[in-house]
Amino acid sequence: MRFRDESGVQTSDSSSSNYWNLGVPDFVPVDRPLRAEYDVAVIGAGYSGLAVAWGLARHGLSVLVLEERSIGYGASSRNGGMVGPSFHELGMVGLTRKYGEEKTKSIMRTSVDALAYCRELFEKNQIDCDLQLTGRIRGARSTAHLDAIVAECARLKAAVGLAYEVVSPSELHLHTGSNAYVGGVLYPMDGGLHPKRLVNALATRAEAAGAQICQLTPACRIEKRGRGFQLSMPQAVVSAQQVVIATNGYSDSRVPAMNNRIVPIDVSVAATRPLGMDRVRAMSPRLHMHGESGRVFIWSRPSPDHTRFIFGGRLSRPNAPLHVQCEQIATAVQRIYPDVLPTDLEYVWNGKIAYTSDHAPHLNEVDGLWLIGGYCGSGVTRSLFFADKLVRKIARQPGGETPFDDIAFPVMPFRRLAPLGARIATSYYGWLDQRDSKASK
Ligand SMILES: Cc1cc2nc3c(=O)[nH]c(=O)nc-3n(C[C@H](O)[C@H](O)[C@H](O)COP(=O)(O)OP(=O)(O)OC[C@H]3O[C@@H](n4cnc5c(N)ncnc54)[C@H](O)[C@@H]3O)c2cc1C
Repeated sequence: MRFRDESGVQTSDSSSSNYWNLGVPDFVPVDRPLRAEYDVAVIGAGYSGLAVAWGLARHGLSVLVLEERSIGYGASSRNGGMVGPSFHELGMVGLTRKYGEEKTKSIMRTSVDALAYCRELFEKNQIDCDLQLTGRIRGARSTAHLDAIVAECARLKAAVGLAYEVVSPSELHLHTGSNAYVGGVLYPMDGGLHPKRLVNALATRAEAAGAQICQLTPACRIEKRGRGFQLSMPQAVVSAQQVVIATNGYSDSRVPAMNNRIVPIDVSVAATRPLGMDRVRAMSPRLHMHGESGRVFIWSRPSPDHTRFIFGGRLSRPNAPLHVQCEQIATAVQRIYPDVLPTDLEYVWNGKIAYTSDHAPHLNEVDGLWLIGGYCGSGVTRSLFFADKLVRKIARQPGGETPFDDIAFPVMPFRRLAPLGARIATSYYGWLDQRDSKASK
């Protein structure tokens, strides 16, 4: 088991516990002296920050990217790599109640557009990130859940042309080896990619376009100075006309504008040892991505080389010793795949998603700073799509509008208590899910 980092300390934060690092070297930026002034400084080198930097550098702007740890250290090299439209959590009905029919349609359409945008971006720029659009199956844990999922799909099909297929109980075995579901829905346009390969591809292109990327360089203070900003790092101070905060779930009090608007939520991930093609196909006959209904759910997928299975969700206590996390994850996964044992799990790691109080991603200007993030756990396609929009806004190019432009990025109420609140809510929702599925049997 890869549960120890090089120093022998048990941690799921270390690079050796993250399967996505296997065979994929860290991107190491070219070491260049800092200039005194940049057009734009970007804080955070995940998908959002790197894609913004790439786009702005292509427009000829001088760009500095500051990353506190290694490139892609945050969620961008820890996630499940599943891509799909990622619709707004409130659903068609909730959104229509809040914003009306037209705005709801345009919000939902951005989700479809984001996937299309990424496909084109990867193709045009020959980004090799193991994109495989094998579809995603979402299993329903009760008939009530199935009815609700199908009804929402029908609304989304009518509004934005979502493609989906209802999978009956008798056809489920064609899509999943799990007996945990009463039926499901297949999203044929969805798929998966290799998260860290995507990080490296973006960083390579950003640097080649002229952006300066600095790792191990935190932004410690950002202060308004005249028409621009002054950024303090441990060893230097630079100024920038504009600043983009792309720290998402890894924000803290050094970037208060973002930190006050999101709550970081820990998500656990585990990758099995190589299981062999037969066992992987037994779990996922068509190599789909897998999701399920419920308030606290597990997602899973085959690894891009189809040799392993990867599971994720709010499954374990991230600060628990790794062998405990491993037991917790295996126990949770056994509800879906009873023959997965703790000893099958070779890699266990976790990462932080950024949740917002209105369940929506945001692209806003707050106190002169650009904030991009709050993807609520679905940020692979959204971050790249939003980055393109932000580049257009900053570079004053057409096409930068989004339906989120006039929606303020709300401050998270009781921010300091929010992480605790989120943990309590997870336990409560898990209990509700168990109660519901017992009641529906
Ligand atoms: C376990 C997990 C599974 C997920 N699975 C999926 C999935 O399957 N599909 C999907 O669509 N989405 C998924 N997501 C969400 C997706 O990964 C994120 O939305 C996306 O990666 C966010 O990218 P980002 O660039 O905005 O932020 P991040 O990648 O988190 O990058 C933020 C960076 O900012 C840096 N930073 C913070 N503070 C400072 C500072 N003061 N100075 C300098 N740098 C700083 C951090 O070190 C970090 O590297 C998942 C997330 C997690 C955690």
